[in-house]
Amino acid sequence: MKQFYRAALVVVAVTLVAAQPARRPVSLVVVGRTVITENAAHQMLSPGAVAISGTDIVDVGTPEAIAAKYQAGETIDAGDQIVLPGLINTHTHAPMVMYRGLADDLALMDWLQKYIFPAEAKTVSPEFVRTGTRLAALEMIESGTTTFADMYYFEEEIAKATIEAGLRGVLGETIIQFPVADAKTPAEGLARAERFIKEFKDNGLIVPAVAPHALYTNDKTTLVAAAELGRRYGVPVLIHFAETEDEVRIAREQYKMTPAAYLESIGFWGPKTLAAHGIWVTDDDIAILKRRGVGVAHNPESNMKLASGAAPVTKYLAAGVALGLGTDGAASNNDLDMFEAMRQASFLAKHATHDPTAVPAQTALDMATIGGARAMHMERLIGSLEPGKRADLITVSMSATRQTPSYDPVSHLVYVTHGDDVRTTIVNGKILMKDRQVRTLNRAAVIAAANTLAQKVREAVGR
Ligand SMILES: [Zn+2]
Repeated sequence: MKQFYRAALVVVAVTLVAAQPARRPVSLVVVGRTVITENAAHQMLSPGAVAISGTDIVDVGTPEAIAAKYQAGETIDAGDQIVLPGLINTHTHAPMVMYRGLADDLALMDWLQKYIFPAEAKTVSPEFVRTGTRLAALEMIESGTTTFADMYYFEEEIAKATIEAGLRGVLGETIIQFPVADAKTPAEGLARAERFIKEFKDNGLIVPAVAPHALYTNDKTTLVAAAELGRRYGVPVLIHFAETEDEVRIAREQYKMTPAAYLESIGFWGPKTLAAHGIWVTDDDIAILKRRGVGVAHNPESNMKLASGAAPVTKYLAAGVALGLGTDGAASNNDLDMFEAMRQASFLAKHATHDPTAVPAQTALDMATIGGARAMHMERLIGSLEPGKRADLITVSMSATRQTPSYDPVSHLVYVTHGDDVRTTIVNGKILMKDRQVRTLNRAAVIAAANTLAQKVREAVGR
């Protein structure tokens, strides 16, 4: 009889388990006080959870709903922290962290021609680029950047260091008219860019690109060839654009046109162009950029430091131009902290327009996430926490003195948070940093290598 009861109990237990829908196994679930999705409805969940399977987000919901539906291989309970999409830096030159603080307080053309170009001529090498990119990657992971757009030399070394660090990169091999470390001529640079595109076009973390430096550092033949190369492979084309009044003056003298109109006249603009700065533009120029689907990377800190001007952010937004945020290279910023970029984007827009309602906190956060994804033509993959997108997300602590009290997480993210407040950084479903411990790079070794290399930079420039 006893055995009969035991068998009956087993039957009941099995029936009960079977009645519950099976929970789908997922690799990772991240739970936090608030999940900011940055989806079209600007939905927030307090508390919230994100379910990740492999490289992708499979669901976003309340912690109870996610726990009921999924069996997590690993759970990160971020407690009181905020969970949000990883930040997207739409314009930088990663290895230039090695020139951080080397030449400050100068105008762009002086800074470039008297300091940066000569320093680059003496120091840029594959080793320099590798060491610099590792340092930049460490700083980006530690400050919550998960994707960055880059323009530099030996871009294949940048790609390798980026993959090793686990970050996502839109990486453009620079094309420039004069001889540089990795190409004696623009033709050589273009051939190098083509090899680079072929090598990395199928990589899950890298979007290879071609990066003609600027209108004033390339002739028409080079600009057209670079745009054609991008079109042929369907990859982004990155360029510095309308950064200074000087650039506009040169274009008007040489071509009797604005930079935007000239680039339009030679068929440069394409559906995958990403233009950095775009400060000195007319309403007609903005209309061209909108019509061509060009993304714009706004770099408020670099623009203020070099006194280049203030991009017409509110006009771009009103026109519906895809607008992202960037830090620019660390030599003109002098860091890669996207939280500061958000804050300065908001302040600069208010200051420049005498309108305190310009670029509110939510707009600045949009620019650093989904806006950046749009500007880089990657909004189907990244920029928000939505099922089907890549799992690129961060958790941010809100317990610092300067974050107390906390009424509005978006206000705090933009107006008081620092990169150092980021606790966890996840890219492509992989945990790159947890509790501020970076897993993909040896922090001490990366910093030591940068300090050793800095000695060579010091000797080369006589500092
Ligand atoms: Zn730049």
